[in-house]
Amino acid sequence: MVGAWCFLDHAGPADYAAGRGLTVGPHPHIGLQTFSWMIEGKILHTDSLGCRQWIQPGQVNLMTAGRGISHAEDSPGDEPGRFQLCQLWIALPDAERHREPSFHHYPELPVLERGGFRITVLAGTFAGEPSPAEIFSRLVGVDLASVGAARTELALDPAFEHGVLVLEGEATVGDEPLAAGTLLCFGTGRERLPVEAASASRLLLIGGAPFGEEVLLWWNFVARTYGEMEQATRDWQESDRFGEVRGARGARLVAPDLKALRLRNRQ
Ligand code: MN
Repeated sequence: MVGAWCFLDHAGPADYAAGRGLTVGPHPHIGLQTFSWMIEGKILHTDSLGCRQWIQPGQVNLMTAGRGISHAEDSPGDEPGRFQLCQLWIALPDAERHREPSFHHYPELPVLERGGFRITVLAGTFAGEPSPAEIFSRLVGVDLASVGAARTELALDPAFEHGVLVLEGEATVGDEPLAAGTLLCFGTGRERLPVEAASASRLLLIGGAPFGEEVLLWWNFVARTYGEMEQATRDWQESDRFGEVRGARGARLVAPDLKALRLRNRQ
């Protein structure tokens, strides 16, 4: 984990033919927030609260699962396209993880320019600019994009641990030359971070106060005990705890076999 950030998926960039884009059928979540940052293309979010929201480049969808929600994600179905998306999960602290589920769409986020980088404040506060995203622990998320050579020094919160993922191009972060797909992590106590790119690049900076709670991740669940995972899995398969997602293209996802979870629990 980096602060409360507990999962990071960089999907794409990818081109797809008509009808072959992203189709993630209805599936449940507990104990987390899904934080979706759209870089290219667009995706439709639908959920069991009845929310139906397209997300476009430069926007964030933030779904707070709390005690339980289900959702689906679909590319536009009838045309070829391209997409690039970062989806991160934020573990909810114990005092917030049983809260009512909610969904928020943020069409505009603070943007600043620094040394050739276009910097978007996704979550928390960066350079005095607060993101509107509703979060429940001290953390930060920042997108840095350059169209050519760029260089800046980022001011960090020394109480945070941090990670930098190069999404596209190459960059030197601190003293480390990083290729696309590399995540550099470092602990608390750092106040300045030089970032340099020789050509077009895109990076994601995440950070947060050390979480201080041990969490378990299983399938789409963030919890504290295996028993909670088992209950959530059974509830998804056998009850209406997670509600119903209407209008999704894909089929309802089937939870993985609980036997694998029990094996892991025994180790
Ligand atoms: Mn999901």
